[in-house]
Amino acid sequence: MLASAAVLSHQPTTGESLPQRVLVMENSRAFTGMLREAIETRLEIPVTVASSLAEAQRVIEQDGPWFLALTGLTVADGDADTIVSFFAEHSIPTVVVSGFYDEKLRQRILGQHVIDYVLKSTPDSVDYLVWLVRRLERNRRIAALVVDDSASARAYAGGLLQLYGYRVLEAEDGERGLQMLESNPDIRLAIVDQEMPGMEGTEFVRRLRASRARDRLAVIGLSGNSDVSLIPRFLKSGANDFLRKPFSREEFFCRVSQNIDQLELVGTLQDLATRDYLTGLPNRRHFIERGLRLLPRLQAEQRPVAAAMLDIDHFKRVNDTWGHEAGDLAIQAVANAVQAHAREQDIVGRFGGEEFVLLSPDLDLDQANAHFESLRERIRDLEVPIGGEILRLTVSVGVCVSTDDSAREDLLRNLLAEADRRMYLAKAEGRNRVKALA
Ligand code: GH3
Ligand code: MG
Ligand code: MG
Ligand code: MG
Repeated sequence: MLASAAVLSHQPTTGESLPQRVLVMENSRAFTGMLREAIETRLEIPVTVASSLAEAQRVIEQDGPWFLALTGLTVADGDADTIVSFFAEHSIPTVVVSGFYDEKLRQRILGQHVIDYVLKSTPDSVDYLVWLVRRLERNRRIAALVVDDSASARAYAGGLLQLYGYRVLEAEDGERGLQMLESNPDIRLAIVDQEMPGMEGTEFVRRLRASRARDRLAVIGLSGNSDVSLIPRFLKSGANDFLRKPFSREEFFCRVSQNIDQLELVGTLQDLATRDYLTGLPNRRHFIERGLRLLPRLQAEQRPVAAAMLDIDHFKRVNDTWGHEAGDLAIQAVANAVQAHAREQDIVGRFGGEEFVLLSPDLDLDQANAHFESLRERIRDLEVPIGGEILRLTVSVGVCVSTDDSAREDLLRNLLAEADRRMYLAKAEGRNRVKALA
């Protein structure tokens, strides 16, 4: 009778398996403390700090796998070049965070396998680094296509995109590029050369726009031609942006990131993958990803966490009586109530059709019971206007709280399965109630 086994059956396919840790190597404790705090709290990404190469070597072997290193260029046991090649040898993508501006050093470092060179002395450097880490973390779920007839140009742009975390596909002409777009719906970015035999870049863009709107796929045109009419031609055929060859790595990084950020801003990039279409809440996969990142941190600090599973009562009847569209509105109303009730530190998600899930840190069983009891009442009191009438609904909620001796392994899975089991008990006992005890 229990649906618990199915709770996590829909495992995330990406994200969860990607390395998550960030290594920060710096000799200034004050700065690393600030940066670590910002990344951990704002992005929920775990950070390890090292203040020397020797220490970095030690933690690299211990923790990991690593997705990124943020490193200063002055530590006691190495100079700038040693530091940069150290991370390259460990195949950890690297961002240099430097305390001083030295144009020659900056150019030399950026010529190596380094993503960016950031000055830490500027007031907004922490904000910039948080943005950068988030961008690089998310890039790993995005595919990018490079269309260029020159193998070396493809390798240059493709290599940089790979360094920024994108999954890279390459095509040597427009025909092949169009085929790849068709078979890879996760391509969100295309870098397109203008001068190609067969199909010019502008023609390629015109054709791809028939199926991929500007807010779904960002296109950056490239050309070595100095013809001034080319930029407007590229933009008019549907490109989002343009870069003249040769371009610097820094310019390329800024343009690419800006264009991907833009897709994210209009809500078509991340949201497609992480948000539920009907309610705007995080979907099941994204909820699990966030939960898997949050729990180890809470456990390390011995903080309890409550999991709640919430299911609308007799929802089939709601659909049958009011119609499916009214049912959708009711689900949206419940989602809004769940979202509004959640505290800032709570994680919420739409888990399935009319099922919602919450993770609430730092609540003991009594507090969790009260927190979800008032959510239940809030939903019971909702009045959803449908055509001149008022639709009302109730929910059954199962709540489970972790304890110090909860198994570390599979904690999320166990918490959700137990909350799910209690939710079914709440149904069995008559619905419209919270069940927080076994
Ligand atoms: P119970 O109190 O036991 O939960 O009864 P129930 O009728 O809610 O039972 P169940 O959970 O099995 O049914 C859920 C129904 O929700 C089935 C499905 O048709 C409906 N549903 C799922 N997703 C949506 C949706 O997005 N919109 C609408 N309108 N209905 C949905
Ligand atoms: Mg060419
Ligand atoms: Mg259900
Ligand atoms: Mg139901």
